[in-house]
Formats: sequence, structure tokens, C-alpha cells
Amino acid sequence: MQTEMLIGAKLVKGKGEAEPVINPKTGKTIVRIREATPDQVDAAVGAAAKAFETWSRTSPMQRAALMLKLADRIEADGQAFAELEALNCGKPINAVKNDEMPAIVDCLRFFAGAGRVMPASAAGEYLPGYTSMVRRDPIGVVGSITPWNYPLMMAIWKIGPALMAGNTMVLKPSEMTPLTTLKLAALIAEIYPEGVFNVVSGRGATTGNALINHPKIAMLSLTGSIATGQKVLEAASKSIKRTHLELGGKAPVIVFDDADLEAVVSGLRAFSFYNAGQDCTAASRIYAGKGIYEKLVAELASAAASLRYNKPDDSLNEIPPLISEKHRERVSGFVERAAKLKHAEIATGGHAGAGKGFFYEPTVVAGVRQSDEIVRREVFGPVVSVTRFTEADEAIAWANDSDYGLASSVWTRDVGRAMAVASRLQYGCTWINCHFMLTNEMPHGGVKNSGYGKDMSIYALEDYTVARHVMVKLG
Ligand code: NAD
Repeated sequence: MQTEMLIGAKLVKGKGEAEPVINPKTGKTIVRIREATPDQVDAAVGAAAKAFETWSRTSPMQRAALMLKLADRIEADGQAFAELEALNCGKPINAVKNDEMPAIVDCLRFFAGAGRVMPASAAGEYLPGYTSMVRRDPIGVVGSITPWNYPLMMAIWKIGPALMAGNTMVLKPSEMTPLTTLKLAALIAEIYPEGVFNVVSGRGATTGNALINHPKIAMLSLTGSIATGQKVLEAASKSIKRTHLELGGKAPVIVFDDADLEAVVSGLRAFSFYNAGQDCTAASRIYAGKGIYEKLVAELASAAASLRYNKPDDSLNEIPPLISEKHRERVSGFVERAAKLKHAEIATGGHAGAGKGFFYEPTVVAGVRQSDEIVRREVFGPVVSVTRFTEADEAIAWANDSDYGLASSVWTRDVGRAMAVASRLQYGCTWINCHFMLTNEMPHGGVKNSGYGKDMSIYALEDYTVARHVMVKLG
């Protein structure tokens, strides 16, 4: 197992404290990895800063060739990457192999192409006698920090646009799930020039803190919690760094009475509980019209109860455990507090799963109100709330009444109504009669406390570049 970090051209061991990496399916330690000290973070940033001098002047064609090579190597080693991610996150192997790996490879291939056709305003004589043109130039050393829910995919979402735009990087994976990022680092070391991409592993408060406060970092990109986003902003304010924040979510799902109930239930079975709800776009907050509410609660509860997990034959498993015991305690705390409400009903689930892993039963909490904690706060577990609404305006107001603004969906057979509602939702994404579907050509990112900055799409390339004006006096 590759457990060394990448600093410059070298794979090296951390010199800080050893952190256990735990298998969430068994609670057992897979390996202990020593974290990077501030000196090692400094060396990684130094290597990236040095590499920037030459890497930033390579052509998009040269960068694309390396990115396509990386995509091919990851694809060829897809089974090993998937097994490692499944081990570290407790995910069903089929979910990583069939859902995540193809999207990861395609993300790199998308950016390899898109980075060669960077959009901008046309050059022209906007002042008589002067030609103006826009350049889109790299920013410098990007410090990237990734979470534990999709460790490799989140790393790739950042690497694709950052390297294709000509930046260099120092990336820190979550201390809970560094394994696929460390494997990736070894692969990148074989393909990219020294210092273009560096990895430091370690905890947020130590290694992460050293990274975000490093004066030579020009941009910080984070996928993580709001609390960490605030720390990134505080650190960025000291030396005016650019920031790109993908924070949490609490996706509202508005189901009108005329919706196709079967499609809603099978959609929610999949997309409320995918990755055990440890997904910032999870369909977690359902608003159901009063005509469909009873049936929806009953059918969703039985669909959720049918989800398979913790089976010895992993090919049968649909969802993983939660990432840690601490996280499971947090999730069950939300459900226990909701269960005490007189108006709420636990329609299914509500307990920890059996065995040593950190499993939690797929849970549906019905009858809850807009002001209830379970409706307002991000649970990040296999738990959905269902709230009854009477008027469309009420559902839209409740959907928008949230600190978060990442993803949302509307379910109805009336296309006009779906479009009207979508136009009023304050979310980075609204799906109609579906949920959770992402594609590398389209932007992903939030508004409000869900952060700003887009992953995937040409908008990510814009975020990882600076638009510059060059003007030439004619004659
Ligand atoms: P987290 O904020 O605790 O950790 C994310 C990363 O930040 C980890 O690598 C961690 O080590 C690091 N970190 C923590 N404290 C730090 C500090 N003081 N300085 C520097 N780095 C620090 O979040 P998490 O628990 O790993 O991830 C779950 C969160 O991420 C959820 O809120 C989820 O919604 C969000 N998320 C958002 C998206 C999105 O696209 N918007 C995608 C996935 C996850």
C-alpha cells in the first residue's frame, strides 16, 4: 500500500504524528500514516512555487497530453483504485467501480479538452486606436483540501481545472481517507514534472492549518464543511488569497400531487440514501403535497427499509456505513431529538445497524415542520425528513428558507409548473423529475452558505484562472 506523500519529485513519509486510517465496515485500523509537519508543507509549497515558473508557460496541448495520460493510467488501474476507495470509505465496491471511476476518468478527459478552448471576449478596438485582448492566465500555487465522502473524485474535480489552467498544486486529503489520493500521487509523480502536483497528508488543525496559512499559496479550494470554509476565509484574508468553496447542502425535494409516485419513490430510494446520505446533494428534505403525502411516506419507508447493506457478499450491498463512530453518533443524535417531537414519526429506521461497522439504518422521519432541527440542519447520513405542504408558494418558501443553497429538485408531470418553480429556487442546481445526476460539462456548486465557485465545466476553468486585459496602442 502506498502511504507516502509527494513533495517535489519524491515520495516521502510524514514527520508528524501517526494517524490511524480506519475501515468503517469493521472499525479496524487499516494503516497508520504520519502526518506532514509545517516544514514539510513549506517544502511542498516551495516545490509547487518553483514548478510554477515553467509549468505555467507550457502550452494547453502539452498539459492536455499529460492529463489524458493520467486519465488512461487511472482507467487501467481502475479496479485497484476502486478496491482501495471501497476499503477506506466502506463503500460497496460496485458503487465505486461503476459510478465513481468512470466519472473520475471522464472529468480529466473533459478538462484536457476544455482547457484548450478557453472562452473569453473577442479581441478588438474597443477604444479607437487601441487593440484590447483578454488573457486567461494561471493563478499560481493552489492549495486544495478534500473531504472524506468521495476522496478521489473530489481530488480529481480540483486537479482537472487547476493543472489544465497552468497552476501548480499542493493537495491535502482528509486524514480519514487519504489512501486513494496517496496512490494517485505516486501515479502523478511518474507522469508530471517535479513539483507540479504535491500531496501532504494530515489533520485539518495541523497540516491543513499550515497549508491554508502559507503565504506563497495564491488560491485555496476546499470541499468540506462550513466551519472549515470559515477558517479558509480567515486564513485567506491575511494574504488576500483567492478562495473556491464547496461546502455542505440540505437539498429540498418538492413533490407535487400529480408527480409519478413510483418514479419519486425509486428516485428517492437511490438518491436520498446513496453513499449513506454522506453527499452534499443528497435528497434529504422532502416537501410533499397534501394529496400525495400519505402514500409517499408509506412507500418511501418501505423502499428505504429494502436497501441492502452490511451483507457479507459485497456485490449485494447498496450503501456503505457512516465514515466513523463519531459521525454515527452525530447522525443518531439528530434522529433521537426528532423522535422526541410529538408531531414527528419515525416511519422506518432510527437505529444504528448491527455489527462492528458504523452502519446506520436508512431512516424516514415524517410529519416534521419547517422549524424542526432535522429539516434545517445537514445530517449527512441516511436520513430523510418529509413535511406536508398545501400551496406551491409555501413549498417554495420553505425550500428557500435554508442557510444552504447547493441542490434541489421538483417532481411533477406539469412541465410549466416545474419550470416556474425551478426559476424561483435559490440553489446552484435544480433537477426536474430526477435528482443527483451530474455531468462533467455542467457546473456544480452552491449559493449562500453552500459556498461559491464551480467544480466541473468551463466555469471551473474560469475559477482557476485570472482574466487579464492586455491593450496595444496602434500605429
Ligand atoms: P471538514 O470540513 O471537516 O473536512 C474537510 C477537509 O478540511 C478535510 O481534509 C479536513 O482535514 C480539512 N480541515 C478541517 N479543518 C481544517 C482546518 N482548520 N484547516 C484546514 N483544513 C481543515 O468536512 P468533512 O467532514 O470532511 O466533509 C463533509 C462536509 O463536506 C459536509 O459538510 C459536506 O456537505 C461537504 N461537502 C460538500 C461538497 C460540495 O460539493 N459542496 C461535496 C462533498 C462534501
